[in-house]
Parts: sequence; structure tokens; C-alpha cells
Amino acid sequence: MLMPISTLRSMSSSCMLLYFTSRVTTLSVETGSSFPQLDMHQSLEPPGQQPPGCGKCSPMGSDAGKAAGCSGCSRGSGGIGKGPVICSAVCGNPYAGLVSHLRAAWLSGKTRPMEYRVAQLEALGRFLDEKKQDILEATAADMGKPSFEAYFTEILLCKNELNSTLNNLCHWMKDEHVDKSLLTQLDCAFIRKDPYGVVLIIAPWNYPIHLFLVPLIGAIAAGNCVVVKPSETTKNSERLIAEMLTCYLDNDCFAVVTAGVQETTRLLENKFDYIFFTGSPSVGRIVMTAAAKHLTPVTLELGGKNPCYVCDSCNVQNTARRVAWGRFFNAGQTCVAPDYVLCSAEMQEKLLPALREAITEFYGPNPRESPDFGRIVGDRQFQRVQALLHSGHTAIGGQTDAEERYIAPTVLVEVQQDDPIMQEEIFGPILPILTVASVDDAIAFINARERPLVLYVFSSRKEVMKRVLERTSSGGFCANDTIMHMTIPSLPFGGIGQSGLGRYHGRSSFETFSHQRSTLLRGAGRETLNTPRYPPYAPHRLPLLRAATETKRQATCLLL
Ligand code: NAD
Repeated sequence: MLMPISTLRSMSSSCMLLYFTSRVTTLSVETGSSFPQLDMHQSLEPPGQQPPGCGKCSPMGSDAGKAAGCSGCSRGSGGIGKGPVICSAVCGNPYAGLVSHLRAAWLSGKTRPMEYRVAQLEALGRFLDEKKQDILEATAADMGKPSFEAYFTEILLCKNELNSTLNNLCHWMKDEHVDKSLLTQLDCAFIRKDPYGVVLIIAPWNYPIHLFLVPLIGAIAAGNCVVVKPSETTKNSERLIAEMLTCYLDNDCFAVVTAGVQETTRLLENKFDYIFFTGSPSVGRIVMTAAAKHLTPVTLELGGKNPCYVCDSCNVQNTARRVAWGRFFNAGQTCVAPDYVLCSAEMQEKLLPALREAITEFYGPNPRESPDFGRIVGDRQFQRVQALLHSGHTAIGGQTDAEERYIAPTVLVEVQQDDPIMQEEIFGPILPILTVASVDDAIAFINARERPLVLYVFSSRKEVMKRVLERTSSGGFCANDTIMHMTIPSLPFGGIGQSGLGRYHGRSSFETFSHQRSTLLRGAGRETLNTPRYPPYAPHRLPLLRAATETKRQATCLLL
């Protein structure tokens, strides 16, 4: 994708540097090689490792732009203070120069001080404030996202995450001092929250700003350099991110890559220090396989089918409104939407009119005319979701319009377990209802399937909520509402099994993007204390060593 010339002219050279499209294969680099002095909150010594290279790399200099091809250059001395090397990844790879550039910036120590992280996070806040209208317009153009929904999810929730991070960063960054043995009592033992280095964030299209920005907040807070790869499906949002975000962040440390599948495949050939992926389980597997080649740790935020058990004891009207809101928000294209309802045949009889009422209350008699109901993101996705309408029997909705990519809020009944709609994540505005005889039947149904990203239960009986919570497994759990659990930054968000690996939001984001570095700072003297562990080994020294290093089992504390 190329930018219009007018946009290019209006951008500063620094913005242009960061905007890295799939067609651009060279990168102009201006960098200093000095290593800043680190204070006591930073590493005691600069990381001494050289960027892994191809053996043919030259120190970063005037011809750094050639590094993407890395042809015929001889390896320089590299490393800190000697001029970082430019080719750190895969020779001949179009993104190698970019990754090397970011790695050099990371090795310089620039992203480590708290003041730097805060400045970049505050710049993200300005991006959200100043580009609010552009965000609303881009997401509306991409998928008819209602501005209220876009403001809530793409701006407000991101601002909350940002403020929670800024409010707590100084506590999160603190070294965590740990218990010591007798032998190390006079030493200093702590966990340092170290940045990983250069991380890659790959985002999907359904919340195109939120789903790259929230992980980015965590990655910056933890002191990393970042490559962001937004989804190519939502073109307007992708362009906005590439053209505008880049003008707010430090171009030496943060880059946006616009790329489709082929280019992302090439991007993933490079060695990153952490990969944070949000998307489908099938692509999650591809990303994890690529990461495994470099033994790169990953977080996978994936999707799946979220069950919603509605117990006979629930408040029917409230349940219907909360389920309909969660299912039809963003036209059903939400990873934490309730995917299907499980309830008794009696409850289905009560729930159907309540759902019909809720849908009319939310979107009027013709949801197609409602400014508060979105559209399916693309033609391919529209065809896929439309095909799912053939499962069971349509009780509410069912209307479609391919030209507008409109699918009405729909409820299906008489759906069977082996119907197509029960074989994949729906990711559209369709809600199938399946009947079960009891809460235990619902639990058995849920446990016979892959573990979901979230499990919903509606009941006014605490023992029902407790029973489902204790006897099932899912990424998250929310009783008597949908989606709301993910609006609390202090609750970790993530899947389990097929629905993902790892967690983020709030402190969990900071921890996800930080390596917990075990650190022991010992004094250089007091050598007699060490003598018992040195050869030649003498049996009489063993009790001494044991006493000095032993961790004793504590007596169980019984509170009477
Ligand atoms: P997707 O997996 O198709 O794409 C996600 C990202 O991966 C995009 O940036 C895309 O360019 C890239 N990609 C696609 N194919 C690739 C390949 N072969 N190699 C490398 N990269 C590739 O997902 P999507 O359609 O954008 O999003 C919908 C899915 O995401 C749903 O399954 C949904 O449940 C899930 N999702 C999960 C969460 C969560 O937080 N758990 C949030 C939103 C969406």
C-alpha cells in the first residue's frame, strides 16, 4: 500500500521513517551510537550481547538503507558503544533493516527510563484525543461501526487502560525484593522487571484501534521497542494508524508495518523477542510456529465459541437485554460476544419474546435503518456468516442485504449440536439457542468442547453460578452480564487452550511484556562464609551448608 504524495509531503521526515509499508524495502536511518548512563532503576550494566547477525552486516551508517538486502557487506564490530549493527535478522528479508534499527535503539537503553516510557504513553493519549474524530470516521467507513460503540471501545477503554498504566507504572517498575537464605542474608536479591527487547504486535480488524493500542500500552510501559502490524482488512483504520500514530511516537523505537498475509509471513521470519498476536486460532498456530523457530515467547489472544447458560431462575428481561447487547454490539464481531445460549425449553419460551423486545428497543422496528447497528466487515465474511443462517429455524430477524453487508439481529431456535453454526465461531449478529435439561447438562455440553475465551451464566441463584464456575474452565467468567468483565483493567484478560495463551490488560500487560530477571547482588568479601561449599568436600561441612541454605517447611497454621 502506498501513501498519497500529498500525505507524504505533509508528513515530517521522522513520520515517514516510521511508516513502513509492505512495498518499502529500505529504511533511512539516523542514529547515534552512544549508550546513555543508566540510573539504579535500570540495569547495572548495559546488555553486552550483540544483535544476532548474518555475519555479513555492516555497522549502521550512511548506507544503512541497504541493510534490508544485506548484500555483500562485511561485519563490523557491532555491540554497545561501537556502533550497532544494522542487519540483525534474516538476510534478504525486507523487514530485516527495520528490526535491526529497532534493536539498535533498544540496545542503546533509550526505552528504559521511566520518564521516557511516560512521555511515549502520554503521546498515545494525545493521539487518542486529537485523532478522535478520525478514528470514529475510519471505523465507520470500515464496518459501519456506530460512533457510540467506536467511542466506547476504541477510545474510552483505551484511555482507561492508559490512565491505569500511567497511574501505576512507577510501582510496577520497582524491583521486587524476595526472601533470602541465611547464607545470602547480607546480599540483595530481587526481581528486576526487564523489557524483552523488540516485540511484534499483530492485531485483527474487529476493534482495529483498541486491539493494537492496548497491547502497545503494555509494551511501551515495560520498556520495549515495538513493531505494530494492524489488520489489512480494515483499510481506513490501517491507513490512520500508519499515517497518524507514527507522528506521535519516537520513530527510533516504534514502527508500524502495513502488511497482508504474504508480507506478514516475511515479517515473522525475523527474530523478535516477544510476539503478541490477536486473531483466529488457525493463524495463531502459524504465528506460534514462526515464533518457535527463534524460541520467541508468545501471547495468543484467540477466539472461539463462548457459551451463555441461562438458568430458569434468572430475571428474563434483564438477561435478554444484556445478552442481546453483547451479541449484537459491533454487529456480533466481538471475540467475547456470547456465541450461543443454553437454556431449558421453558426458559426459551420466555426468552424469545424478551429478546424480540430488547432488539426492537435497541434498534427500532427495522434495525437496518438504525444508526446504532453495524455492518459485516467484508464480502467474504458476509458470505460466511450468511451461510450460518441456514442452521435451525429463524425465530427473530434473518434478513440480509449483500450490497450493504447487512445481517439483521437474528435468533435461531431448534439448533442441533452438529449444525454448521455450532462448528465455528459465529462472529456475526446471530444467536442460536440450544435447549438443555439442567445445569449439569449445560456443564457437560460446555466441557465436551474446546475451552472458551469467556463463559457467561445468568442466574439469580449463587449456587448455580458457583457450580458452573467450579466445574468448567474458560479464559474468563462473567455472571449476569456480557463483555463487562473486560472493561476492568485490573482483571487479566486472555484465553485458555484453544482460546489463547497468556493474558493482558493493566498490570498483566506490563508483566506480559516484562522479563522477570532474577538478580542477586553479593558482596565481594566475607569469604569464610563461603568456604563450606568449596572442594575438597568434607562431610562435616554439609550440616553447615544445610543450615545456611535450608528452607524449612512451616507448620500449618490452623485458625480456630
Ligand atoms: P486473523 O487471524 O485472520 O488475522 C489476525 C491478524 O493476523 C491480521 O493482522 C492478519 O493480517 C494476520 N494474518 C492473517 N493470516 C496470516 C498468516 N497466514 N500469517 C501471518 N499473519 C496472518 O483474525 P481476524 O479475522 O483479523 O480477527 C477475527 C478473529 O480474531 C476471531 O477469531 C476473533 O475471535 C479473534 N479475536 C480475538 C480477540 C481476543 O482478544 N481474544 C480479540 C479480537 C478478535
